[in-house]
Amino acid sequence: MSPNGEPGGDAGDPETAGAEVGAGAGGHEPIVFIVCGAGGAGKSTITSRMIIEDPMLHLSRSWTTRPRREGEPEDAYVWVSEEDFRRRVEAGGFLEWAVFFEHLYGTPTPEVPPGNDLVLEIDVQGAVQVRQRDPNAVVVFVLPPSRAEQERRMRERGDGDEHVARRLAKSDGEEEIGRELADLIIVNHDVEGSLAQVQKLIGEVRRQRRG
Ligand code: 5GP
Repeated sequence: MSPNGEPGGDAGDPETAGAEVGAGAGGHEPIVFIVCGAGGAGKSTITSRMIIEDPMLHLSRSWTTRPRREGEPEDAYVWVSEEDFRRRVEAGGFLEWAVFFEHLYGTPTPEVPPGNDLVLEIDVQGAVQVRQRDPNAVVVFVLPPSRAEQERRMRERGDGDEHVARRLAKSDGEEEIGRELADLIIVNHDVEGSLAQVQKLIGEVRRQRRG
């Protein structure tokens, strides 16, 4: 971590950069696929389908200090205190981490099963950090089909007025960074169509890199 405690402060350390996402014994180097996008874009739905349909994709489970929402699955995150989170930061135990609306979110140093590729569902700040560490990381940026639909999806999962307003306001900045980083930009009209686009990209990247 940087001396001022800002996220991503250790990402440029040449001794550790990229070291975490190594090949397993006898396996090939995992490809890192990042799915990012604004709240309500539908990235969780796309990501969970990617994992179900491709047994060679390994989804990283993030740590967060955010309290669990009502009805949210127990395994959506590793739920931790800020103290535990900061301790792990100090120990260099995150590939990336970020502050998102007062809460901390981080990708623990990945342990990818041999032969698998890695999927990270993270915000754009995290995507920037991972790209710095691994310039070959593949970024998929998911956009909602419209503001109205984005808002509807956020409300559907129980987000209150204030939270919805804050996340919508944050979306424009996220979109600018996301568009710049992205290898693929998806406008998520329907899950099947979006999933097909991601799967096509994954197939192409695997063929390019592994023949
Ligand atoms: P939520 O609180 O809605 O679950 O997540 C808030 C934001 O944090 C979302 O954009 C989500 O993708 C992102 N996020 C989840 N896990 C991580 C992580 O490990 N690192 C980063 N940088 N962002 C994350």
